[in-house]
Amino acid sequence: MKRIAFIGLGTMGSAMSANIVKGGFEVVGYDPNPAAVEQLETDGGVGAQSPAAAASGADIVVTMLPIGSIVESVLFGESGVVETLRGNRLVIDMSSISPRETDKIREGLNRRGIRMIDAPVGRTSHFARLGKLLIMAGGVAADIEEARPVLACMGSEIEDCGGPGMGVRMKAINNLMSTALNSLTAEVLTLAEAYGLSVDKAIEVMGGTPASKGHLVTTYPNKVLKGDIEADFMLDLAKKDLDLAINMAVDADVPLATAKAAAAVYSEAQDAGYGVKDWTALYAMYKQRYLTGSEC
Ligand code: NAD
Repeated sequence: MKRIAFIGLGTMGSAMSANIVKGGFEVVGYDPNPAAVEQLETDGGVGAQSPAAAASGADIVVTMLPIGSIVESVLFGESGVVETLRGNRLVIDMSSISPRETDKIREGLNRRGIRMIDAPVGRTSHFARLGKLLIMAGGVAADIEEARPVLACMGSEIEDCGGPGMGVRMKAINNLMSTALNSLTAEVLTLAEAYGLSVDKAIEVMGGTPASKGHLVTTYPNKVLKGDIEADFMLDLAKKDLDLAINMAVDADVPLATAKAAAAVYSEAQDAGYGVKDWTALYAMYKQRYLTGSEC
């Protein structure tokens, strides 16, 4: 039976490690919080006194920690994983940390003959308990394959994101979309209520438009992603609609910071001559400006 060391038994890690136990692996876990270690033992795992003790004799080490500096100290610090983990073993870091930190950590492990994949997760602790996380894996394909049986205990979707470090990069991109949309969502519902609209009705109506479905699956595939920015819906008209809502917000004394930031981007696009193009041409503008050699 393969032995898995699991470091970081918090909200996510406790559920994930329990699911690895259920998957038939031997799990040895460490967390500075004794209650978290006790929980792992109740779930059928074995508690350890340090990351080094957990990693001793492990085939794979999984880390699920709050921030990059803690991942670094768990691996390389006093009583850290590298003190005991044998060469050519695999570390799977599932924490949400920065690509820069991930790359540095991977290089440090590789120098010691240890392989690493980054595999942060999407979705909440509810899905962690169900073993239905979305796992964004970055690493050498063979290493991801080696990790797959363990990852499959924790997630229902395992995406190979295309090489070392690409998992954390994908996670950051995904979170940019979801966190920024959260801010806009809060503004939109507040404005709806300020104008006496039923929030339930607003959600129902938006459910059938790009407002709720998102541009990635509605407007973009048919236009800018195909290299076509001729207007289906003209950017000038989209800006007019955006301004209309922002003016309503001003009248209702509800400041909308996210919407105003978006309006500034539309204005830039108009200044750059995209006003008569499709509203998805915002992406063409960004690519043209910031990705050298790219045009739409
Ligand atoms: P958490 O704070 O609940 O758990 C972190 C655990 O790490 C704690 O049990 C803590 O005691 C432990 N820890 C701290 N220092 C340690 C050390 N030196 N050695 C060993 N263990 C140590 O956090 P979480 O919600 O489980 O999140 C973990 C990671 O997953 C974060 O990077 C987070 O951003 C990411 N994430 C969380 C969620 C979520 O819904 N909670 C969803 C997706 C991703």
